[in-house]
Amino acid sequence: MTKDAKFTKNDASTKCKYLVWTASNGLGNRMLTLAAVFLYAILTDRVLLVKFGDDMLGLFCEPFPHSSWLLPRDFPYWKDRKHIQTYENVLMKHGGNNSKELLPSFLILNLQHTHDGHNNFFHCDYSQELLHKVPVLILSSDQYFVPSLFMIPSFRQDLSKMFPEKDTVFHHIGRYLFHPSNEAWELITKFHETHFAKANERIGVQIRVFNTHKAPHQTIINEIIACSVKHKLLPELDLQKPAEAASVLKNQTSKAVLVASLFSEYGDKLRALYLRNTTVTNEVVRVYQPSHEERQKSSNGMHNIKAWTEIYLLSLCDSLITSRKSTFGYVAQSLGGLKPLILQRAFGETIPNPPCQRARSMEPCFHYPPKYDCSRSNTTVDFTSLFHDMMHCEDVSSGLRMVNIKH
Ligand code: GDP
Repeated sequence: MTKDAKFTKNDASTKCKYLVWTASNGLGNRMLTLAAVFLYAILTDRVLLVKFGDDMLGLFCEPFPHSSWLLPRDFPYWKDRKHIQTYENVLMKHGGNNSKELLPSFLILNLQHTHDGHNNFFHCDYSQELLHKVPVLILSSDQYFVPSLFMIPSFRQDLSKMFPEKDTVFHHIGRYLFHPSNEAWELITKFHETHFAKANERIGVQIRVFNTHKAPHQTIINEIIACSVKHKLLPELDLQKPAEAASVLKNQTSKAVLVASLFSEYGDKLRALYLRNTTVTNEVVRVYQPSHEERQKSSNGMHNIKAWTEIYLLSLCDSLITSRKSTFGYVAQSLGGLKPLILQRAFGETIPNPPCQRARSMEPCFHYPPKYDCSRSNTTVDFTSLFHDMMHCEDVSSGLRMVNIKH
């Protein structure tokens, strides 16, 4: 891999440099940052180590043969935290001038959206030049910051060679890194054999309801039906004809709908609807919801295994309907190589028109991308005007998503 001169590897005597991943937020956020961090480690010639707690240890197989990516318990940083500095400290002291102060050996790189969101300068070459000199970076992020990597001039050429199709970054990295553990795999195969294998078509519906804009369950159900009928994922109900007995339906084509949600009401209502009614095409629609955890419990291992199982099952579907701004949905769509229909935000009992919108790219959205120009730090810039392989996300207008540009 070629690099800009200032980032080339030193001579062979150079010690390894490390990039340590730490967890924040839910599983979707974690998987997005793991993929972004892996790419960053490749670009900066660092060894990637992950700090998994008990809530993560049961999820994945080790991705690298004959080697472990788990942070060893005796890794020096965790013994001696006295010398830790933050990225902002270091940037302030060393950025732009020739500070004589030594750079630290360990540095916390906090790219969480709550930290300084759009305002960091991680996407600038001068930040990377500094970070390059620090042996151990401990990264904490809940963001899919891959578009920032594409903004960095010294990385862009390598990235373009690695990903000729810009909307496949998470698809390739995710499928390389994330292999379900035996426990998760057992749940996945069991569900698949029982409900998916014999269906003619599989449709995934991911319903993530954030508290801030909660519409009634029935409105969201109506929105899902309006979306799936409009885009011909599901047939219309034939309200004139009563449901047929299961024995009569044996040889008819069938659609299996996987509902992923924290709440049982969605699966229950959709299931009842298609059990009680026939469809105008006479297709049989069966609805399954593997779990309903009621609330997010990201520090619980079994809860995360269920979440991972559902993300993986959604990725096996032929088509997807997902919720706005949900990283859970992003991981499923990217692993599956799918451009989902994204549900629009519903208010009260009104079904949005249109009810859903097709994503232009299977890539996850970077919710809090940088705002500022590297050379003029007080000037904001819309990066989509500089990089034509980035666009604002359909579901988060200030976010950025990598897209494929047609030549
Ligand atoms: P986001 O908050 O939608 O961006 O997704 P995250 O995955 O980062 O965080 C939400 C967390 O809530 C998940 O990781 C799960 O722990 C839980 N969760 C949310 N939706 C579902 C779901 O449909 N099924 C399951 N099993 N868990 C869910």
